[in-house]
Formats: sequence, structure tokens, C-alpha cells
Amino acid sequence: MIPLPAYRGAEVGVMGLGRSGRAAAAAFAAAGAHLHVWDDSKELRRDFDNPRPIEPSALDRLVWSPGIPHLHPRPHPLAVRADAARVRPEADVSLLMEAMPDCRFVGVTGTNGKSTVTALIGHALGALGRAHAVGGNLGPAALGLPALGPGGIYVLELSSYQLALMSNPAFDVAVLLNIAPDHLDRHGGMHRYAADKARIFENRATAIVGQSDPWCRRLAHLLRAEGRAVAWIGDDGPALPGLPGLHNRRNAGAALAALGALGIDGKDALDAMSSFQGLPHRMETVGEIAGVRYVNDSKATNPESAAFALASFERVRWIAGGQAKTDDLDALRPWFDRIAKAYLIGASQAPFARALADHAACECLGDLGAALAAAHRDAQPGDVVLLAPAAASFDQWTSFEARGDAFRDGVRGLMGGAG
Ligand code: ADP
Repeated sequence: MIPLPAYRGAEVGVMGLGRSGRAAAAAFAAAGAHLHVWDDSKELRRDFDNPRPIEPSALDRLVWSPGIPHLHPRPHPLAVRADAARVRPEADVSLLMEAMPDCRFVGVTGTNGKSTVTALIGHALGALGRAHAVGGNLGPAALGLPALGPGGIYVLELSSYQLALMSNPAFDVAVLLNIAPDHLDRHGGMHRYAADKARIFENRATAIVGQSDPWCRRLAHLLRAEGRAVAWIGDDGPALPGLPGLHNRRNAGAALAALGALGIDGKDALDAMSSFQGLPHRMETVGEIAGVRYVNDSKATNPESAAFALASFERVRWIAGGQAKTDDLDALRPWFDRIAKAYLIGASQAPFARALADHAACECLGDLGAALAAAHRDAQPGDVVLLAPAAASFDQWTSFEARGDAFRDGVRGLMGGAG
């Protein structure tokens, strides 16, 4: 946990009592602050003593959880009252930066690939024996991370919500992987979404920027025009055995550039990265049956990320659908010929079937179990059965992890049956 001695006796509010809010509340409590906590969900308030709605005018600081919309689609009433009281809702990451001024900070954001790149940089730093901690949007929340000594490196995955809430981002190294439409309702449109992401470059950061989309390219040009050092992320990053696909070469290139910006020699960085095995639910091979590989990319919750998964294999039995952010599958169009057949599930199965009509064979199967059984029945040696839904999981599951776990269990069941 991060020590916050400056807050001894201070009046602090914590809005949102999920993962990051709980870590913040624990860190403030340990520091001897007077805590005011709230969450609109009764369920999440349950573990706290008698919480009352927060009165911002009494506060020295208000930490706001990124999971709670504060401005869009409509301003939260507490955010409005905080604004009137001139108290700024703040991301926990800002407090981490203030508390650890002698450490270095690597921030990683983007629409897709954040977790992979964050974990990969952390893995390499670990393999190199460098004092570091990995967290933020992935793993422990910012204020639940261990305190590092001077020179320690925090590698933080940042959502655009967190960046929007940071008062003074001061990353030493900042990675922006890509920008594609996602969560636009909560950002108030694509321009705001891109502007929130761009906050990662405020102040002094060495900028590492993807070049695969116009939003990132424009941002990189703006940064260069300001005289900032910008490293592009190209398609020529190293191919690591644990990370298949072109997108992962970009991710590996981004991690390599970030390690370079930390002063680590390129060859050492590459050696350290090469033992990374990838994260579960991202292009995770979960089994092989009779020459057919089964790949769990449950984290592919939008068409852009699913496109990379499709592009990674020659002949795909594609399990897709769920709570779609869009029915527009245009991002996947260049890879339609990779689809031997699509096995559609969930709330978006009918619109996805319409989008695929005339382009690929498809069948609506309702749920994952039925889709896996059908794909398994049809698969030929050399095929890949791929779960890359291009949609969120919440119509049928509690999370993308639960969806991916069910796929993995289903494949293991088939392997048992086959073996
Ligand atoms: P995030 O944390 O940004 O959601 P993840 O690393 O968890 O990113 O990957 C999310 C999904 O996006 C996975 O399905 C993965 O295969 C895909 N993906 C990973 N990196 C990229 C990239 N650079 N560009 C596009 N898609 C990617």
C-alpha cells in the first residue's frame, strides 16, 4: 500500500468503492485521514461503516473511481456539487505520483493492447531485476501498489477515464498504442475520447505513439510540432513466441521503445521480454484437438481487436457476438476470407449475421456452449477455433474473464472427451 503521510488528519472523500476506491480508502485510513466514502451502489457500500453521501465543501481531496461516470453521458450530481465547491474529482494515480516523487512512471494507454504492453514491460523489468510495480487499470489499483524506493519504476495501465481524472499527469514514459471508437457515450464523442487519451503526454513524458490510425498520427505530429521527442510504434516490432499476431509485434515494439526510454539496452530488453507468455484471454491457446487449435481472445470486445485476431490465422471457425458496442463489422472486412464459418452468439447475433451475409458462412447458435460444440463438430485439421467476440460479455456473462474461462473449460472438456 502507498503511504500517504501528508493526509494525516485531512478530510478526504472516496467516490466509488470498487477495486480502486477500496485501495484508496485503505491507504487514507492507514495514513490517519478522516474518510468520507460513497458509492451509488448499496452493494458496494455494504462493507463500510454507515457511509453518507459525500459533502464536497468539507473536503481537502476527493478521489473519484474511474468506473463511475463523472461528466458523460450526464454530470454526476456529486461532480456538480464538487465543482461548485471548487474540489476537483481526482484519479488515484495522481495521488500515487505525488506520494512517490522519486520514482519513475511509465503510463500505457490506447483502445487495445494496454494490458498486454503493461504486463510485458513489467515482465521485462522483473527479468532484469529492476525494482518495479505494475498496476492501475490492470492488477492492483494505484494506491494498493507497494511503495518503491528512489528510482523504482511504476508501470501503469491507464484507461481514458483515469487520464481524464488526473490533475497533473507527469509520466516519464508515455505509450499511446491506438485510438479506435470505444466507450464513446462516456467520453462525449470521439474528439473528447482522443483528448482524454492525449493527456498521458502532458508535461515531460517521452512519447511512444502508434501509427496505425489517424488519431494517433495527428497527435504525434502535434507533439513533434511542439518539439517533443516522439517514437513511432511500427509494424516491425519483435515477434515473441508468447505473443502471436501483427498487433502483438506492435505491442512488443511499444514495450521495447518504453524500455529503451528508461535507459535499458535494446538487446537486454529483448532478452528480458522473450520469456513473456502473454496474458489469459488475449490470443491464449487453450488446447489442440486433432490438429485444430482453440484460441481464447475473449478480451477482443470490439471489432478492431477482433480483426487482429482473425488476421493472425489462415482458416478460422469464428465464435463472435455478445453485447456489441457497434453492429458495424467493417474493421473486420479485410479478413472475412479467413472465416471458414462464423458461430454467432448473444445479443448481437442477428445484426452480426446481417453484417456477414454474402461474405461468410454463419449460423446463430445463441450461446457459447452451443457455438463451441458446433465449431468443434465442423473443424478440419489446420483450422483455428477462435473466440474473439467483437462485443462485450455483459449480455450473458459477468465479465470477459468469465466468458473466456467458460471457453477454456469447454475446450478442456472436449479434450477430455477426445483423449
Ligand atoms: P486492453 O487492456 O487495451 O483491453 P489487451 O492487451 O487486454 O488490451 O488486449 C485486448 C484485445 O485487443 C485482445 O483481444 C487483443 O488480442 C487485442 N489487441 C492487443 N493488442 C492490440 C493492438 N495493439 N491493436 C489491436 N488489438 C490489440
